[in-house]
Amino acid sequence: MLVDVLFPIHADAFTYFVPEDLKYKVGPGVRVLAPFKRGKKVGIVQSKEPRAQNQDLNKMKLKSIESVLDDEPLVPEKILKLIKWVGEYYMSTSGLALKNAVPSAFFTGKKAGRSRIVYDEEVIKAKVVDLNDEQTRALGEINSADKGVFLAHGVTGSGKTEIYIRAIKALPPEREAVVLVPEIAITTQMIDRFRAHFGESVVFFHSGLSVGERITQWRRMRNGEVRVVIGVRSAVFAPFNNLGLIVIDEEQEASYKQFEGLRYNARDTALARAQLEGVKVILGSATPSMEAYFNARSGRIRYLELTQRIEQRPLPGVDIIDMTKEEKQTFSLSNKLLEALKENMGNNHQSLIMLNRRGYSPFFMCTDCGHTYKCPACSITLIYHKDTNTLNCHYCGSYLNPQAMCPTCKGTRIKHLGTGTQRAEEEIQSLMPGLAFKRMDRDTTQKKLSHYRIIRQMEEKKIDVLLGTQMVAKGHDFPDVTLSAVISADIALNMPDFRSAERAFQLFTQLAGRAGRGEVPGRAYIQTYEPEHYVFDFVRSHDYKGFYDKEIELRKELSYPPFSRLLRIIFSFKNKGDAGKTVKVISGRIRRMNQASSPLARGGVEILGPAPAPVEKIRNLWRWHIIMKGKNAKALRQAAAVILEKLKDVKNMKIDIDVDPINML
Ligand code: ADP
Ligand code: ZN
Repeated sequence: MLVDVLFPIHADAFTYFVPEDLKYKVGPGVRVLAPFKRGKKVGIVQSKEPRAQNQDLNKMKLKSIESVLDDEPLVPEKILKLIKWVGEYYMSTSGLALKNAVPSAFFTGKKAGRSRIVYDEEVIKAKVVDLNDEQTRALGEINSADKGVFLAHGVTGSGKTEIYIRAIKALPPEREAVVLVPEIAITTQMIDRFRAHFGESVVFFHSGLSVGERITQWRRMRNGEVRVVIGVRSAVFAPFNNLGLIVIDEEQEASYKQFEGLRYNARDTALARAQLEGVKVILGSATPSMEAYFNARSGRIRYLELTQRIEQRPLPGVDIIDMTKEEKQTFSLSNKLLEALKENMGNNHQSLIMLNRRGYSPFFMCTDCGHTYKCPACSITLIYHKDTNTLNCHYCGSYLNPQAMCPTCKGTRIKHLGTGTQRAEEEIQSLMPGLAFKRMDRDTTQKKLSHYRIIRQMEEKKIDVLLGTQMVAKGHDFPDVTLSAVISADIALNMPDFRSAERAFQLFTQLAGRAGRGEVPGRAYIQTYEPEHYVFDFVRSHDYKGFYDKEIELRKELSYPPFSRLLRIIFSFKNKGDAGKTVKVISGRIRRMNQASSPLARGGVEILGPAPAPVEKIRNLWRWHIIMKGKNAKALRQAAAVILEKLKDVKNMKIDIDVDPINML
């Protein structure tokens, strides 16, 4: 008897022989100990029908598995199928997908003990509300279906979370639910609400869990002891046997996509899982992705609309502040915003300010010769951090100590240009003494529970002004926030990416949506040097559909998604000279593929590049890429496979494939 075994490494399955005495113990999903290279490894049995069709097993000398580690499957068969799908769809391997799906502690070979799960002492009581008409209608449609995809498009504060909770409660008792959220920092309030409703049968699955907690929660899920799992990306692989519903909150968020290693998108993986298991999905958003709304319009998915805030509360008025008209530019706050902040504080209300750039200042420049500091390993300008007095690279994490003298011209007039969150903090505190202020960005939320504490302090009104990166813009429900602001909208508008307008619209709309969620109406302020940008026309009037109609025309003209699919291949080289030479070879080999007569072109696939990646060097690797555009995903993957085949013998080059990329840097 033979089996295919999958290890948590970047490879597909390996075939092993099963000794007679283990025959009745092996089955898909159980762990086995097997000889691997010169050692031994723990893997998972993928199937009892090995890939004999493309391997001449008779000619291979197969090794035997040594022992079987589980009595029952650790990974349900459905999840094994999903892992396989992910490996294939993202042109990676099943092994790497397994590594992302199953806690690594299961592969150490050691017997891991269970750990007791400690719950918060303080459990908030579930708020009982009567659904409004729009909520009732949406929930009714969801409850009457067993499968299919719903887009719940509801303005900020329209009560989407309430719908998720009720839809889960309406499932048959043996059915489980997966709730995906984009980021832990913006989810604490949602978790509190779920815990209030589901108690210990809701599990929060995230990277901060200890090894023991992970193992315990995985087993509980597999044993049917858990009703709901909430988590970021990898929760899509939750080992439920009776899944009934998947919720993807803020489905448009870029953080659902993993940017390194296995470049999978948890939203799309969730849609694939729902299809494999025949269950329903709710995509929730105030600002759906162009793709999701496009699919809703064309009838491919079902559309549920929530046009009203709870209790008919008004959406905030939005002021676009033209920064070119500001007289003194010593501070990053305009007069108007400063006055509004003071007034809001005077009225004892809270404010939220977003500046999507951490650190103190993005340019540390010699005013004599114009020298700026670049990361030695990346083609990126370093960002000055005042608390540590270092120049940090936000790509690779390395840092330099700034010198008082310019290394190029020996000048000493070195200046900080531009503002990050640390500098904005300093400014606001100096302009508004006596303010209870907090900063929330990746630097202040490193420690476990630190973001949770900030959220609690906001809820308890111990903070007047919360300033931070996009972390403050999304998800939160603070009824006393009546002012929200963007210090520099231009950062989001000027990203070199065809999605930058979409992202900017989403971000500003989300940020505005934090204001006026309670009894007192709110107001939003957006500072920009480009007030004429079309994004603002729609942000001002909270007009998602208007924005969509405009943006979809641009996408159509350029045949970008949703009118096409993209696939990006990144080539990395250790030295620049190698890169130049090799790229010539690559160009030569793929040039013909673009000719009109080639099967590729006829299949509707177009290749752009090779060209240097916008960030040309990261971690000492020189990067080039090609971007492929096609009518459908399958044709694209096939074309990419042809290219890889043509480049098989090219040396000194690393290749990364990104299917459905959402970051072109
Ligand atoms: P969204 O997820 O759409 O931004 P939430 O679900 O967070 O909105 O709802 C906003 C607020 O309104 C929450 O505090 C929630 O408890 C409350 N809420 C939701 N539905 C109702 C309702 N039908 N009646 C009263 N309050 C509600
Ligand atoms: Zn760097």
